[in-house]
Amino acid sequence: MTVRTTPATDLIVARPEGLYCPAGDFYIDPWRPVARAVITHAHSDHARWGHGHYLAHAHSAAILRRRLGQDIQLQTLRYGEIIDHHGVRLSLHPAGHVLGSSQVRLEVGGEVWVASGDYKLESDGTCPPFEAVRCHTFITESTFGLPIYRWPSQPELFRDINAWWQANAAQGRASVLYAYALGKAQRLLHGVDPAIGPIVCHGAVEPLNAVYRDLGVRLPPTVMATDASLDRASLSRSLVIAPPSAARSTWLRRFGPDLADAFASGWMQLRGTRRRRGVDRGFVVSDHADWPGLQTAIRATGAERVFVTHGSVPVMVRWLCEQGLQAQAFATEYGHEDDSEPGAPSDANPEANSEAHPDAHPDATPS
Ligand SMILES: [Zn+2]
Ligand SMILES: [Zn+2]
Repeated sequence: MTVRTTPATDLIVARPEGLYCPAGDFYIDPWRPVARAVITHAHSDHARWGHGHYLAHAHSAAILRRRLGQDIQLQTLRYGEIIDHHGVRLSLHPAGHVLGSSQVRLEVGGEVWVASGDYKLESDGTCPPFEAVRCHTFITESTFGLPIYRWPSQPELFRDINAWWQANAAQGRASVLYAYALGKAQRLLHGVDPAIGPIVCHGAVEPLNAVYRDLGVRLPPTVMATDASLDRASLSRSLVIAPPSAARSTWLRRFGPDLADAFASGWMQLRGTRRRRGVDRGFVVSDHADWPGLQTAIRATGAERVFVTHGSVPVMVRWLCEQGLQAQAFATEYGHEDDSEPGAPSDANPEANSEAHPDAHPDATPS
């Protein structure tokens, strides 16, 4: 990054509607209806209803249309493809969060800004891994921006999940694993050992599996709970992937009174959250970067200025300032839907769909 003319204004500013690019007159993941929105990924706290025009990665298209309507005005890009909009060069780069998830790179007069959306660094096999994009200013999420958050590696994680499922199956107990329907569920499917038993997916998960398979992601065979091939014996050996909203629902009864259950989330690192969820097991797995991951990603951008959006904002801002960077908070309304904030008030997102957290745990939110 060599010659650049300092623009008169920042390339991205915070507005009541969302993150706004004045030069290009568009928003990134706005939370209020706007004319033009660039969408980093299809989780519903980032991809909201009511915008005049949407721009997103091609692999987000099917899910966005499913959630927001077949008739939305949607333009798609591939990773690295550049478009010029009112003199702003815009491109999308892999964020490694869920299928289609993108960082947004903006360039004007040699000045480069990148808005991360949600991201994680470890490659999970279901979407292209996070790519560090050099920039002058980086807008980062900080969902798990506290030193206590450190994820186990994927091999460790799946060894533990497979051992849990195997042990339950040997006792004739179904294994119910709660996970967010978009991204987390497919990542778990991709990594588990299908030789242990049949895999049953909830109705909120199975259509998203189909989208992933259509886009070439390898997932093991799955069936819906109503599938004719499932008898009592196979149910008792099954792994059941369901969204958290299915917990304590009548849908679960078919798996018998003796099922084992577990929750798959980064918040499972907190013993208190695990206890309050009332499940047998917690598997620490997140589609967001952990503390070392956030630090690695931010450093790799080479940015001198960093804006921190959702999550543990003050802690991350302080740490970045200690590293000699110019860091500040950006107030946003992300984090109320996917794997983000168990403490988010349920009324924070009036458009919450069935994947919203069914219950809030205010004291589990890092502050
Ligand atoms: Zn997300
Ligand atoms: Zn988010």
